[in-house]
Amino acid sequence: MAKKNVRIHALEGAEMTAEGLSYKGVIMETVVEKCDGCERVVEFEDKKYCPSYAQPAIKWAHSVCNFATHVRAGVDKEGKVKVNPLKASKRAARGR
Ligand code: SF4
Repeated sequence: MAKKNVRIHALEGAEMTAEGLSYKGVIMETVVEKCDGCERVVEFEDKKYCPSYAQPAIKWAHSVCNFATHVRAGVDKEGKVKVNPLKASKRAARGR
């Protein structure tokens, strides 16, 4: 019987090259500090990468990463974008 919530190794077929980690013809950059807690982070040879986005730093440069599983962007009363951590229960519910 298949196990629930089994994490698929999403960087299957990736290989380390002189330029960096190559995955599906794209050179991957390591995740940034803001990615900490995101369920999409995958470790490859002691470094952490995001299979959903090759350049995590750029994804976070202007706002909150829209692929993130650990935070959501919200807008406060002054119209500024706020980072709202997702509660553990909501994260668990998304996995159903
Ligand atoms: S989905 Fe976004 S927050 Fe998550 S690891 Fe990738 S770049 Fe980082």
